[in-house]
Amino acid sequence: MTKKYSSEPMTKQKSRAFLNHMAKKFRIPAPSLNWSNRETRGSADYYDYSIKVGPKCWKGIITTLVHEFAHFLSYQRLNCICSPRPHNRQFVDALWDVAAAWYGDPAHYDWEREYPSVRALGLKRLKIFNVSKRS
Ligand SMILES: [Zn+2]
Repeated sequence: MTKKYSSEPMTKQKSRAFLNHMAKKFRIPAPSLNWSNRETRGSADYYDYSIKVGPKCWKGIITTLVHEFAHFLSYQRLNCICSPRPHNRQFVDALWDVAAAWYGDPAHYDWEREYPSVRALGLKRLKIFNVSKRS
């Protein structure tokens, strides 16, 4: 478990380490990191196979990384980009797995900062699995 990272400020170097760690864990190619001091949302670029993230991302760097990495996991699992509905159920499955792998417990992921549909599915699943509440 790598929970120690989550309590430390995420740097560019740690963000890259996160991507490499998770890629190994889920056996997918590691997306490259596109560190940006201007990016405020974070994004996954499938064509460039990169994740854009930076200190101004409103969700926070780690939450953004978990979310964007889940796009690549979902993409690799489905072998499809699946737009125009990228935040579908398969994405939530991937997000759940990435959150569980990173935090040890998906309840520790910041579901409140997710898109409403993703948040609703995540919170519903937390109830179903009755996993511990965020502390
Ligand atoms: Zn997204």
